[in-house]
Amino acid sequence: MAFQLEQIIRKNIKDLKPYSSARDEFKGKEGIFFDANENPYHSLLSENFNRYPDPQQLDLKKKISLIKELPIENIFLGNGSDEAIDILFRAFCNPGIDNVVICPPTYGMYEVSANINDVKIIEAALTAEDFQLNTERVLQAITPETKLIFICCPNNPTGNGVKWASIKIILESFRGIVVVDEAYINFASYDSLIPELLNYPNLVILQTLSKAWGLAGLRIGMAFASEKIIHLFNKIKPPYNINTASQYQAIKALDKVEEINLMIQNIISEREMLRHELKRLPFVITVFPSEANFLLVKVNAPDDIYKYLTSNNIIVRNRSKIKLCEGCLRITVGTPGENQLLLNALKNFNQL
Ligand SMILES: *Cc1c(COP(=O)(O)O)cnc(C)c1O
Repeated sequence: MAFQLEQIIRKNIKDLKPYSSARDEFKGKEGIFFDANENPYHSLLSENFNRYPDPQQLDLKKKISLIKELPIENIFLGNGSDEAIDILFRAFCNPGIDNVVICPPTYGMYEVSANINDVKIIEAALTAEDFQLNTERVLQAITPETKLIFICCPNNPTGNGVKWASIKIILESFRGIVVVDEAYINFASYDSLIPELLNYPNLVILQTLSKAWGLAGLRIGMAFASEKIIHLFNKIKPPYNINTASQYQAIKALDKVEEINLMIQNIISEREMLRHELKRLPFVITVFPSEANFLLVKVNAPDDIYKYLTSNNIIVRNRSKIKLCEGCLRITVGTPGENQLLLNALKNFNQL
C-alpha cells in the first residue's frame, strides 16, 4: 500500500484551526503596531525585544534554505530538535493507541517523548557487532498502529552511520513516517539524505544547530520534509517557538559557513587522533569508528574510569549500563588542549 499522509494524521490535528497570531495577520515590517498588546517602548537592551518574534522565522529560513539547497516550504524550525520530535508524536500518534519503532541503543529523547505523549515504544535493536539496522527485525516490529520509525544516522551513542540500503528498504516498505535524525551529519563521511525528500513523501529528516554549528544554547532544531508535512508541523507549533535573540544570533552565525567548516575539519582530525591514542591505552578494549563528534570507547573498568575522570574534573558520559554498550564510555571530542588533558589523565589511571 502506498504512503498516504491524510490517513496517518491524527483527526484532531487534521481538524485543527491553528492560532492566528497578530504577526501572522499583518506581515509587513514597517508600521505602527497596535495589534499585539506589546509594550511600545524599546526594551533596555539594544534589540527590539519589546516586539514578538517572526512566527515563521523567514529571514533565518532563507539562510538555511540557501545552505541546504532546499525551499523554505520544506523547512520547519523547532526550539531544538526536541521540539520537532515532540511535534512528530503530536501530529501522528494517538495517545494510548499508536506506537513507534526505535532502534536501540539510540538517542534517549525518542523514548522520553513517546512516554510524555503516552505512545508505546517497540524496540528493534541494532545488530550487536556493528550497530547496523536489522531491517527484518524492524519490519517485523511494525504493527497496524505503528506511525513512526526513528533512525539516528550517524547514531548516538554508537557514532556509526546506518547503511542507506537498509533505510531505503524501510522507507519503501512502511506506510508511516520514517524519521532520520541527522544531528551529526556534518561530521560524517557521507552526505545528508535531503535529496531523497523528492523520492520519499514519508521521509522526515532532523538536523540541528546544536552540534557542528556550535549553537546548542540557542535551541534551534530543523526538520526537513514534504511541504504538506511542514505545513502540518507549523500548524501545531507554538506561534513564537523561536525567540528573537535566537533568530538574530543564528542568522549571524549562518554567515560564517567557512569558519564552521574549518572547525568541523578540526574536530574530525582531533577525533581520529583521539581514536588512535585511546586505542593504545591498556584498559581500552575497543574504540568504535565514529562518523560524529564523539567516540564510543569500550573499557574494562567503566565505572572506575568514569569516577576517576570526574574526580579530575573531566566529565564523560557513562553508557556502560545500556544494552549493547556494556563497558562503554561516550567521549565528546574537545579542543586540542582539552583532548590532551583527557589523554594525560587517562595515561595516569592506575588500575587496582
Ligand atoms: C544532540 C542531538 C540532537 C539535538 O537536539 P537539540 O534539541 O537540537 O539540541 C538531536 N538528535 C540527536 C541524536 C542528538 O544526539
